[in-house]
Amino acid sequence: MGHLTTETFDANARAALNDGQLRGALRNATSLFGTRRLAAANGLPNWQDLRTEARAIKDEVLLHLDKYLEEFVTNAESRGAQVHWARDAKEANEIVCGLANERRARKIVKSKSMVTEEIHLNVALENEGIEVIETDLGEYIIQLAGEAPSHIIVPAIHKTKKQISELFTEKLGIEPTDDVDRLTSVARGLLRQRFAAADIGISGVNFGVAETGTILILENEGNVRLTTSLPKVHIAVMGIEKILPLFADLDVFLKLLPRSGTGQQLTTYQSLITGTKRKHTDEGPEELHIVLLDNGRSRMLAHPVTRQALACIRCGACLNACPVYQQIGGHAYGSVYPGPIGAVITPQLIGLGKASQLTYASSLCGACREVCPVKIDIPELLLHLRAEITEGEKTKGGRQKAEGRERGEAAAGGRIRKKRMERVAFQIYAVVMGSPGLYEWNAKAGRLFQGVLMSEGRIGKVGAALSRLAPALGAWTSARDLRPIAQRSFRELWRDGLASDGQSESTLNEGDLFTGTAGAPPAASAKREPSRGR
Ligand code: SF4
Repeated sequence: MGHLTTETFDANARAALNDGQLRGALRNATSLFGTRRLAAANGLPNWQDLRTEARAIKDEVLLHLDKYLEEFVTNAESRGAQVHWARDAKEANEIVCGLANERRARKIVKSKSMVTEEIHLNVALENEGIEVIETDLGEYIIQLAGEAPSHIIVPAIHKTKKQISELFTEKLGIEPTDDVDRLTSVARGLLRQRFAAADIGISGVNFGVAETGTILILENEGNVRLTTSLPKVHIAVMGIEKILPLFADLDVFLKLLPRSGTGQQLTTYQSLITGTKRKHTDEGPEELHIVLLDNGRSRMLAHPVTRQALACIRCGACLNACPVYQQIGGHAYGSVYPGPIGAVITPQLIGLGKASQLTYASSLCGACREVCPVKIDIPELLLHLRAEITEGEKTKGGRQKAEGRERGEAAAGGRIRKKRMERVAFQIYAVVMGSPGLYEWNAKAGRLFQGVLMSEGRIGKVGAALSRLAPALGAWTSARDLRPIAQRSFRELWRDGLASDGQSESTLNEGDLFTGTAGAPPAASAKREPSRGR
């Protein structure tokens, strides 16, 4: 696989759309998780109340994050944990590599963690000559394949059983098999040896509790338990937004997260870790280091609209529900965080300039908002980011123009001209849509004009050629027909209907609004059913 980046999103998406195997795997997995999520949510009568409560808890935390972080640090340290602050990925990697080097660690086991993917921790450790093994089965598979995760909770969602078998044959030398139990047991056998030999275990964190200094990690395979308890040193990397005020708040989030993610009532394991082990005979590490990572989160926190993205609990439900993700999968986004929430978070983590294409990777259908357990309004966030991009381009366009003038150059390049034309087009559109007279006149003119472009009820070849000249129309018609304007507008039908029946507006039935079809108006004299109650 080539190197996919956020800046090549359009090309990545096109390549993904041509990959039938990928789309088949995605279709199966996302629809399965979607069905399970719905059944699990329907099984809780107070599901909507829980979502509201979870969002209220998150809003409270995000409004007073400084206070809750301090409380968390005090309580974690009082129980033996050592807390480190990292402003960005570089600092976080330096802290973890420093801890590993000080202890002369050469073998590290890791449990699945999106935040360590975000900072590219494995690369940093490997550059220090330290061997890192992913112990979550999905992560292990993509590590063997040399790929990045393509889903927040199911990293190898894009791989079929056959592809995994081929990978294991190539990398681990086993006989090809489509027996899932056999594949799993091969991985388990190899990973067990790694756990026993590891100097350090590294994990992410699902929630950190301010009241007790506890961290909670959820999983289904038992590998987190082994990662965090077998090695003498445990390093947990945690985004600063993962804090919850009270231990009792976990009750709400433990009902929402597994149900939204995999459709489970509860994950198989919940590891609650509060400090280091107290007695020699206790389970758990002798050293617990918690690295608190900012990496752009404070910036998101500062704005009331973008702040809500920090409420995300990384359940992955919005990915499964998204019609764009369902078709192209996670790699096309070129980012650790794919799908709708990735399209919101990534531009804020790496900069709008680098990831602007992602904000347009959405039809704004709202499916993500519907399923989000913490009620994040992702379409609102995407529109907010798109507005920021447009504002930025306006300013940039003006600046480039001024600089060009100073240098005596032709001021605007093609891109700026295109943007300017787009703005003018939308200004004209706004004037037409704001004036009923202009709107009707425009529709009539369009109806007359389209006659020469149509063939068999569609905008035909002449129309297609013309639309290719106008790029905005060309993009639309390159993959679909452009439907013609209806011969009679809704307003005309409405007026004629009133005139022919002599009815008042209040007697029209709802179905009347849908009686007209493009190019085939209903007879003006068609008799309407009398309205109910008359
Ligand atoms: S935005 Fe909502 S649905 Fe998407 S991963 Fe985050 S919590 Fe889950």
